[in-house]
Amino acid sequence: MSRILLVEDDLTLAMGIEYSLKNEGYYLDTARSFAEGKRFVDTGKYDLIILDIGLPDGNGFDLCRYIRRNSMVPVIFLTAQDEEVNIVLGLDIGGDDYITKPFRIRELISRIKAVLRRTVTVDQMECLVSKDIKVNLLESKVYKKDKVVWLTPSEYKLIVILMTNFHQVLPRVKILESLWDVDGDFVDDNSLSVYIRRLREKIEEDSSNPLYIKTVRGVGYTWDEEVRSE
Ligand code: CA
Repeated sequence: MSRILLVEDDLTLAMGIEYSLKNEGYYLDTARSFAEGKRFVDTGKYDLIILDIGLPDGNGFDLCRYIRRNSMVPVIFLTAQDEEVNIVLGLDIGGDDYITKPFRIRELISRIKAVLRRTVTVDQMECLVSKDIKVNLLESKVYKKDKVVWLTPSEYKLIVILMTNFHQVLPRVKILESLWDVDGDFVDDNSLSVYIRRLREKIEEDSSNPLYIKTVRGVGYTWDEEVRSE
């Protein structure tokens, strides 16, 4: 059962969402303010977080920034129509999707399902497999056609981030933040390009025409092949 946190101050909307999601079999906690949301987030027990942007004591973007300091848990924003222009910012700071009010609950549920499908919970499995590439998470080793590919810690972290978010465009900022978290050093934009190039040279058949790691111009990167977990 997936555990969802909803942060929404509109009582009627929150109750509607709560009712429907519980009916779908999700576990749901609801917070009504930024402060309350933060307290729930700190428990670290959620598989997905739905964030309203306009909260009485803060906003969903800041809460998302807070979440991203130590978690890759997927975030869906609920935005009002006039906030939609800001949504690029929302995705830039690590949001995974957004939905504009008013929306049908069905639509929200299908977004939730899609986001949860894309998110593989790393601690629940041992291997990530995508065509010829296999990542053994217990050994922290990567194999290509059953031969070990030697990666640096940053390259390893990078391939795991990409594969666990396959078919999803990862903005450069989001990748940089998660690399930075792990190594404790600041990774700049140029270094990320270098890591990507080296990783491609190691795993792709033809690194100038990559099959796995595709560049999304002006945004970031995506792992373009299906990934399954074992
Ligand atoms: Ca609101």
